[in-house]
Amino acid sequence: MSDIATAREVDRSQMTVSDEVAIQISNMNKWYGTFHVLRDIDLTVHRGERIVIAGPSGSGKSTLIRCINRLEEHQAGTITVDGTELGSDIKNIDKIRSEVGMVFQHFNLFPHLTILENCTLAPIWVRKTPKKEAEATAMHFLEKVKIPEQAHKYPGQLSGGQQQRVAIARSLCMKPRIMLFDEPTSALDPEMIKEVLDTMVSLAEEGMTMLCVTHEMGFARQVANRVIFMDAGQIVEQNEPEAFFNNPQHERTKLFLSQIL
Ligand code: ADP
Ligand code: MG
Repeated sequence: MSDIATAREVDRSQMTVSDEVAIQISNMNKWYGTFHVLRDIDLTVHRGERIVIAGPSGSGKSTLIRCINRLEEHQAGTITVDGTELGSDIKNIDKIRSEVGMVFQHFNLFPHLTILENCTLAPIWVRKTPKKEAEATAMHFLEKVKIPEQAHKYPGQLSGGQQQRVAIARSLCMKPRIMLFDEPTSALDPEMIKEVLDTMVSLAEEGMTMLCVTHEMGFARQVANRVIFMDAGQIVEQNEPEAFFNNPQHERTKLFLSQIL
């Protein structure tokens, strides 16, 4: 388990949390068939929060964040994103998906499209953005993730860390208000983890609301304002990083931390 500190000092003073609620999850439950995967989840995320979700494999972390943009469906309780409730109404689902970006462990880039085309595809076809404008936006975000020079290459020609930064840039091209990350560095070689974490740090410093499933506890300590610990489909404990790491309350949290730190 790597615990690589992010490269540069993080200026937490810039990372303000607003009173505005970005995501409200109330008494949410989900089953896969008869398997009760998420139990009574209550979670309020304010605009500007950086939340790290930790917990053992199989505890429901991915399922939880996938429910937030309806990649998975919950069966009970409510999930409200930017005031819009996620239900079966396809209009609401589309609206929420347009505000929520997601980055996965495997970058899921289209191999037959260039980096630039990967970044402009959804803006052009989903948002109906004119091609020139979509390309300018894409170049802006590729510069932000520090790989504008790769724009005309194909994903297979890039390293894993570069591909993951493209995946982040591609998400940003849709101008999301919330970013979800599901173990974005877990498939990367150690030397590439830092460059992806740096990109995430920059996003945090710009005020992006972020939910990150990650085992990078260095990142959690530096960037998160809250760490949530899940086990067996429940939120067992949550706290600010300092208290979470130094003074865990539950036996399950203590066991988990003793295994990874
Ligand atoms: P985590 O991300 O914390 O490892 P997941 O959310 O991926 O956990 O999975 C939680 C539990 O749900 C695991 O026991 C997993 O096997 C199960 N699970 C995940 N996806 C499905 C699915 N599509 N169908 C049935 N069970 C699933
Ligand atoms: Mg997972």
